[in-house]
Amino acid sequence: MASKITPQPGIMDIALYVSGESKLEGKSEVLKLSSNENPYGFSDKAREAYLRTVHNLHRYPNTDHGPLRRAIGEVHGLDADRIICGVGSDEVLQFITQAFAGPGDEIITTEHGFSMYPILAKMVGATEVEVKEKDRRIDVDAILAAVTDRTRIIFVANPANPTGTYLEQDEVRRLAAGLPDTVLLVHDGAYTEFVEGADGGAALVDEFPNVIMTRTFSKIYGLGGLRIGWGYAARDIIDVLNRIRQPFNLSDTQMTVAEAAVRDIAFVEKCRSDNARLRDFMRNAFLQMGVECDESHANFVLARFASAEEAAAVDAALKADGIIVRRVAGYKLPTGLRITVGDEAACRRVIHVVATYKGVR
Ligand SMILES: *Cc1c(COP(=O)(O)O)cnc(C)c1O
Repeated sequence: MASKITPQPGIMDIALYVSGESKLEGKSEVLKLSSNENPYGFSDKAREAYLRTVHNLHRYPNTDHGPLRRAIGEVHGLDADRIICGVGSDEVLQFITQAFAGPGDEIITTEHGFSMYPILAKMVGATEVEVKEKDRRIDVDAILAAVTDRTRIIFVANPANPTGTYLEQDEVRRLAAGLPDTVLLVHDGAYTEFVEGADGGAALVDEFPNVIMTRTFSKIYGLGGLRIGWGYAARDIIDVLNRIRQPFNLSDTQMTVAEAAVRDIAFVEKCRSDNARLRDFMRNAFLQMGVECDESHANFVLARFASAEEAAAVDAALKADGIIVRRVAGYKLPTGLRITVGDEAACRRVIHVVATYKGVR
């Protein structure tokens, strides 16, 4: 018997999030390059911390995330009192949406933006306003032109997923400076660590009280399975978000491992430099085969083929070789394949399959 219990408006419009595939029929070993995971795993210091925390499983964790926030603050030079931690940055993005938007409000996203943003808008019954990009890059003027007096939140990921394109700080600053001070700009820095010298928007947060930066331990730190992310904003914004955060949202294990990970700067630097080298290697190989590929600033490349059919055929050829990448038709990129930068052997395998398909080798 069907229930007569009805959900809040918007919820039934949500199409469930599709995560990167991880299995192939008939293959016991797969090379998973569909979820932007770190090919090197995670820091040994994080592993040691994880094992230590097993002794505390019977204890409730601390509720204020103090030690982790202070570690993040020290490493990144930020005020620990203006940091909030969540179950992945996804949870921080959810707090932001729940706290600052509701029915009748508008949330601006962009043409090829991260697929969580429309899900969050619908979750709170707000209206999603999708703004065009320019050649797969976020278009600051188009966003500014789309702002109305109903706009509450703007979501931009920078570097962007799945395009890998990047807005330099002066462009993001122009966006922040052009907004009414009642509109919250969310600068999603899930891939910040892959950009040499980038602060993820921290300086803009310090300059503009209506900018929030989100960050994650899922990408360069290789801790997607542990679910930890954080945000940095003006004190009053963080105060609002803390009111809707469950007091025990993060376990001691999550916090202790994240703290060890953020302090292991050498691991992050190794991952950043290897990623940059192999990402450019893969992109150049694609360009030489006549496969279009924008410069990426993240840990993946977006290869663009001649047609959706060719993208599907290359995807099939990769799968036949045990390699899983991400189709991105749902991101309005039907000719694209988003391919995580793996280790060197992984990159060579991908290049070999694509080259063979293209008949270049
Ligand atoms: C991966 C990703 C995230 C966050 O993931 P969490 O695992 O929830 O921290 C956020 N934004 C973008 C654009 C991402 O690609």
